[in-house]
Amino acid sequence: MSLFDVYPLFDVTPDHAKDVYVYDAQGQSYLDLYGGHAVISIGHSHPTYVEAITSQVSKLGFYSNAIQNPLQKQLSEKLATLSGCEDYHLFLCSSGAEANENALKLASFHTQKSRVLAFKNSFHGRTSAAVAATDNAKIIAPLNAQQKVDFVEFEDLEAVEAILSKNETCAVIIECIQGVGGLDQCSTEFCKGLEQLCKMYNTVLIADEVQSGFGRSGDFFAFQNHHITPGIISIAKGMGNGFPVGGIMIHPDIKASHGLLGTTFGGNHLACAAALSVLEVIENENLMDNAKARYQTFLNHAEAVSELKAIKGRGLMLGLEFNFPVATLRKNLLYKQRIFTGSSKNPNLIRILPPLSIKDMHWDLFFEALHHELQEIKLHTTTNTAT
Ligand code: PLP
Repeated sequence: MSLFDVYPLFDVTPDHAKDVYVYDAQGQSYLDLYGGHAVISIGHSHPTYVEAITSQVSKLGFYSNAIQNPLQKQLSEKLATLSGCEDYHLFLCSSGAEANENALKLASFHTQKSRVLAFKNSFHGRTSAAVAATDNAKIIAPLNAQQKVDFVEFEDLEAVEAILSKNETCAVIIECIQGVGGLDQCSTEFCKGLEQLCKMYNTVLIADEVQSGFGRSGDFFAFQNHHITPGIISIAKGMGNGFPVGGIMIHPDIKASHGLLGTTFGGNHLACAAALSVLEVIENENLMDNAKARYQTFLNHAEAVSELKAIKGRGLMLGLEFNFPVATLRKNLLYKQRIFTGSSKNPNLIRILPPLSIKDMHWDLFFEALHHELQEIKLHTTTNTAT
């Protein structure tokens, strides 16, 4: 049986990895500035993480949600402490899309309404309601198109109010720093306005922190920069450092009842052990402080790149926007300079999402490589124009 061919693949075969480097079987190293779509938070093969998963799987890897699982309790307590979201409740699942699917469903149960408001260039995953709230017609099947979603531009509070005032919208879902969409951010004024409108019209504000959460923005959650209180926070990616784990954190205003949500795999012993070890390392190695500090040094480097049109994002969720499509530049960075970077909906933007353990010496390597490849592209363009 061949694989269902849905992914365009780079010609690289990772074999093992350590911290911010990935290696192929021949030992060729690649500097990982992408973390496999923002998943690697504490660094590849971190010893604390390896030990936690290894010892848990040798004891008890899985049992269902029909029994007592003290690891879930430990995880919710540690997450509350580190995030500062002390009074929220935790429901665990296994991916980002599943987290958003549950968030949207819960908002609909809670308000008994069915429309969703999302933002232009959003990405919330590929399951039914999550993909319908994603601004990309190409990945929405007719089945998903049955969902009723309104898309609004960031900063347009008037448009938000015009929709919410019809009293049909159960949830507003927002990435305070957009990931796949291209690293655009909303303002504090806009966030505060959204929070107020959601309260006014009985709509649940969902902060999608699947990509921006777990310290990547420099705060535990990106919404915390704007001092708002979402009804639901969705989490995944960096939470498991590669182990498939996700969840939603639910404000106490939204009540639970038996059978309201459920999953077979979510919150299993192994997933909890992985997520707990990630939190332990984020705390012990001050990785949120590192994200903030490395952002400043990144800015110093990036501001000296004359070809740049804009620097987007914050913390270690960053975008470098140029005046030209970056596909060739990214390929050269990968195959010639051995550096992984990411793409986005914006064809002119390089996405940078490194492990939160990155050091300044890695920025030095990256910017030297970037300058070199930009120079090569310039030389090529000049030669081609001259001939
Ligand atoms: N939400 C955001 C903001 C994302 O960036 C993603 C994935 O890129 C998702 C949700 C979906 O997560 P998953 O691929 O784990 O389903």
